[in-house]
Parts: sequence; C-alpha cells; structure tokens
Amino acid sequence: MSESQETLSNLLREKRRFPPPAELAASANVTAAAYDEAAADRLGFWARQAERLSWTKPWDDVLDWSDPPFAKWYVGGELNVAYNCVDRHVEAGRGDKVAYHWEGEPGDTRTLTYADLQREVSKAANALLELGVRNGDRVAVYLPMIPELPISMLACARIGATHSVVFGGFSADALRTRLDDARAKVVITADGGYRRGKPSALKPTVDEAAAAAASVEHVLVVRRTGEDVAVHDRDVWWHDLVDRQSGEHAPEPHDAEHPLYILYTSGTTGKPKGILHTSGGYLTQTAYTHDAVFDLKRDEDVYWCSADIGWVTGHSYIVYGPLANGATSVMYEGTPDTPHQGRWWEIIAKYEVTLFYTAPTAIRTFMKWGDDIPAQYDLTSLRVLGSVGEPINPEAYVWYRHHIGGDRTPVVDTWWQTETGAVMISPLPGVTEGKPGAAMRPLPGIVADVVDDEGRSVPDGGGGFLVLREPWPSMLRTIWGDDERYVKTYWSRFDGMYFAGDGAKRDEDGDLWLLGRVDDVMLVSGHNISTTEVESALVSHPKVAEAAVVGATDPVTGQAIVAFVIPRGSAGADVEGEEFAAELRDHVARTLGPIAKPRQIMVVPELPKTRSGKIMRRLLRDVAENRSVGDVTTLADSTVMDLISAKLPSAKSED
Ligand code: ATP
Ligand code: MG
Repeated sequence: MSESQETLSNLLREKRRFPPPAELAASANVTAAAYDEAAADRLGFWARQAERLSWTKPWDDVLDWSDPPFAKWYVGGELNVAYNCVDRHVEAGRGDKVAYHWEGEPGDTRTLTYADLQREVSKAANALLELGVRNGDRVAVYLPMIPELPISMLACARIGATHSVVFGGFSADALRTRLDDARAKVVITADGGYRRGKPSALKPTVDEAAAAAASVEHVLVVRRTGEDVAVHDRDVWWHDLVDRQSGEHAPEPHDAEHPLYILYTSGTTGKPKGILHTSGGYLTQTAYTHDAVFDLKRDEDVYWCSADIGWVTGHSYIVYGPLANGATSVMYEGTPDTPHQGRWWEIIAKYEVTLFYTAPTAIRTFMKWGDDIPAQYDLTSLRVLGSVGEPINPEAYVWYRHHIGGDRTPVVDTWWQTETGAVMISPLPGVTEGKPGAAMRPLPGIVADVVDDEGRSVPDGGGGFLVLREPWPSMLRTIWGDDERYVKTYWSRFDGMYFAGDGAKRDEDGDLWLLGRVDDVMLVSGHNISTTEVESALVSHPKVAEAAVVGATDPVTGQAIVAFVIPRGSAGADVEGEEFAAELRDHVARTLGPIAKPRQIMVVPELPKTRSGKIMRRLLRDVAENRSVGDVTTLADSTVMDLISAKLPSAKSED
C-alpha cells in the first residue's frame, strides 16, 4: 500500500441491520458472555475449549510462546485426531449417526455413519501401513470429492502420517512441485471424478507427476468412473488393497504438535506456500468455531459446506471441525449447474440442510443466473448461512439472506485464511446484529486489530492493515521446510504481529470490514481506495451480478479505476452500450463519492478466478494497462482471459 494521508479510505456507508432471530438467540451455543470470559483469561478460555476433545495425556501448558513466532499449543498433551473425529462418537453410542450424506454428481449416493467411517478409516490406515507408510511420512491425496477423500485424510491422521491434499483441478506440474516439496511417499488418487456431467480423468495427471517425483513409492487408486487407465508398477487399486484389510485398527496417541497436514495456499497472489498445521490446537479451534459460528446442534442439524476439500475450508469445515463435533454433513461431488442450475437447492431440500456454508463467488453466480431458480425449491429448513473466501458485497449478502435464507437466517461472514486454520473474525449468529458486508468482531479468544503503516491501531472509522496480535491455537506453525519464509512473510511487516496481507476498516461501532488484499489497493489522487468498496458499489446496481476493479496507471491521478462487470441474467441487452457504462460510473460516484468513480467500465462475460473461485485482479491489471497477460497457471479456466481480451476494442472509456 502506498503512503498517503489516510491508510485506507472508508467510503462505503451501509445502514441495513439484521438482529439475530429471537429463538436462535435464546438457545445459542455461545452467548455474549464468551467475549468477556475470553478477554479476561484468554489461555484459560482456550484450555476450556480443548476439553471438547479426548486427550490420552493432558497438556502441561496451554501455550509456549517463548520462541515467537514459533508457537506450541497444549504442550505435552497427546491425542489421536482420527479417534477424536470418529471412534469416540461410536464409543459414545452414536455409531448409527450419519457422518456424511454423500451425493455424487450423476445422482448416485452413499451414506456413511460414524460406525462406517470407523471401519473404513481403519481399513485405509491398515492399507497405508502395508504400503510402508509410517508415522511422520507424507502422503499426497489427489482425489475428487468422494468419501475416500476424508477417509484417506483420517487414515493418515490415525497413523501419524502428514497428508498433503492437492486440489483435483491442478496440473501435473503443479502436483509434481507439491509432491517434491513434501517428499510424498504415497499418492492416493482415483481414475477420475464427475464434473459437468462427464467423467473427468485424474490418473493421467498423477502418472505424469509421479513419474517425475523421486519420492513416490506407491500410487493408491480408487475406481470411481471406471474409465480405462494405464497401470504402472507403482500403482495399486484401492479395492484390491483396502477392501481386504481388517476393519479394526488401534489408534496411537500423538503429540499435540504432531504435523497433521500441509496445504498449499490457493495461489491468488503468487508462488504456493506449504502451510503446516499440527494436531491439538488445530482440532480445538476448528471444533470450537464450527460449534460457535454455526450454532451447531449436533443431534438436529444437517450441515453442508459446498467448498472443495482441496481448500482449507474443506479441511476445517467438511472434515475436521464437523467430525470432531459429531455432526451430520452433506458432501457433494460436482458442479452447481449439473444437470441444472438448481442442483444445490435441490440438495438442500432433499437432505433438509439447516446450516449452509459457501463462497461469495457462488452467491454472485446464483444472482447472475436469476432469482427464479432457488425460488423453485423448499429451502425452509435452513437456519444459518455462512460465507467465506472473499469479502461478501452487501448486495450479495442481502440477496443470500433473502433468496436462500427466506429473510429468517442470519448470515455469518467468516474471515480466515489457510494460514489461520480456522475462522478468526465472524459474527456469532445468536449474539451479533448482522451488517451486510461486515465480518464484525474477532471471535472470543482471538485478538485482531487494524493498524496503520507504523503498526498503531487506527481509530474507529479508520482503515488500514489487518493484523493478529496474539497467537491462536490453529495458527500455521511454519511454511513447510522454510522457517525463514514463514517469519519473513507473516511476522516481519509489524513488530510482534501477524500480518495477514488484507486491508480492513473498523467502523464507528468498532466492527470490522474486510477490504481486500493490500496488494490490490488502488491509489487514486493520493487516496488509497479498496477494491472491495468499489466492487460492492457496482454490485449494488440492480443490473450487475459481479464486478472486479483494478488500479491502472493514469497520467493525471496516478492510478485510475478500471472496472470489469458481469451483468445479471435479468439485465437485458442494453448493457453493451455507452449509456450503461455512464450509468454505472455515476452510480459508483453517488454511492462512494466522486473519488471512486471508475475511469472505464468493461462489460465481460466472465472474470479470471482461481480454482477456489477468487478473482485474480493482477491479470485484470495487465489487461487494463495493455500488457501481455501474466502467469495464468492457477486460473480455473485459462480461456477466460481470451474472452476478456476479445472485449477490449469495445472498451468503454470516458475520455
Ligand atoms: P494465496 O495466499 O496463495 O494468495 P489465498 O489467500 O487466496 O491464496 P486462502 O488462504 O484460501 O488463499 O484465502 C484467504 C484469503 O481470502 C484471505 O486472506 C482474504 O483475502 C480472503 N478472505 C477469506 N475469507 C474472507 C472474508 N470473509 N472476507 C474477506 N476476505 C476473505
Ligand atoms: Mg493468502
């Protein structure tokens, strides 16, 4: 962020408020008292949260922070993560409770109870042992969204192997880089999965990557699609090896700081980093936040997180948090528009989902497809809606609450990162009055702040850099194999604070609003303007479904705002004209002030997004500055940039 008078402008005014539903507030898992309790004794608070888990050996100290930024939580404690997620629920008499209602894209289904999960995880653990995997080894998992994915992760956790799940959409080269970096001994994959109505192969990618990765000894292959695959010496079929194993396996305790997994960040900003998470603190905070933020009622709720397990959201809120809490979840293999654009709402109606967690990118896509689609389904079972991944534009929040939540459900906007492991800033659905677009308050036990260039807290009404002032249980422990990069990336910008890389503001009530990545901030005539506020202003126009803005070099103002806009399905044909562009420019000027008025509006059919659905603004910056487009390897769909570039001649500019 460049220097200027203010650290980050605070332009957006949002007056709508949504108090928690009375019934939810009356029976909420977490009440307002939790904030005070945690503030009075933060480590005591986290000690109590760890009691949610079953420890084979109690910890001596809650936190060892004697060698910052290298934290140890629940020092000396021992537990088995898989036992906590599976076996203890069976032992408590809940073996028949459904852990996953799994729905394949073609419409096939599988139901896994906790007892089923215990048997399947034990078999997979025994199979990994037979392949020579030992405590401390790394196992890469490159699977579609099928039950074998959580089963594989839990099998690793059970025997103390560290898993590295690589999203099934990554290329052979991206996979090989990750196999090499982690020196993975085994890769677990499938012939393929179903996407957009067709089998989509995975095995050829693994063949290519594993051939080049010296550490890989075996590839364990699940048959999902039944398509022909090449079989190499290192390959072994899941049904040959796992099915014949014993369904019993005695879990051994591991140290609280035993490495649980490595996960590479999604790559919105650059070279992937292998984020390392460990056991006791990670499981404590994922379990606590899943219970608190969704107000999970274990025996009544049906919970669905639509993320891919290949991202941290899926790790923490499809696998570890919900299972540690003994919840019933839905898991879906495919895309939201297969075979039709109502598929997600159909699934919610079918399983009577009560708690739903998705991303703003999905919500904006549904806004684009039209309100009439969710209207065809019975969504009255829903009682809490969550959002994660990007700032949620106020208009998308209100749309989500109204069209999906029937105006009954609170929306919890949850801010966190791969690095934080679990939710850090979020409303509590039974406590917090919702403000569309605001992530509101750090959760109890979390100490977040917004600071200026010098690391001083900004006053209410000010904007700046989001930081975390105290360590937290599910924090990353390091970047795998690169302690120095860990210190440099996260702990060197401000003394003694974790710097998240995001901009934020604290409003007059002291509530937090995320303003996008600081690398994306635009400097217009000496004002630092956040992408989020301008995008939200554009999305608040009734004809706009999605928007991305970037700062492009401008001879007069330093940078000028260039906006890329996707119209709503209902917007009609006149969105191509000069008039529409002028209308949007004026709309932004009216909403945020003339300083935020875009110089240029480009109507585009799609936006460049990472595979986890986040807008990649650096590529749009290339387009806006007429440069050749940079590295597109982490794009979900590389043809998108061609579509956008093709629109260039018709770019609408004021001057
Ligand atoms: P990379 O770090 O490789 O660039 P990434 O940051 O996209 O990738 P993630 O860890 O999946 O990878 O995403 C975390 C980031 O997503 C946050 O730093 C923030 O920018 C954004 N984010 C997540 N949730 C929210 C939210 N509720 N509000 C605003 N931003 C959010
Ligand atoms: Mg990041």
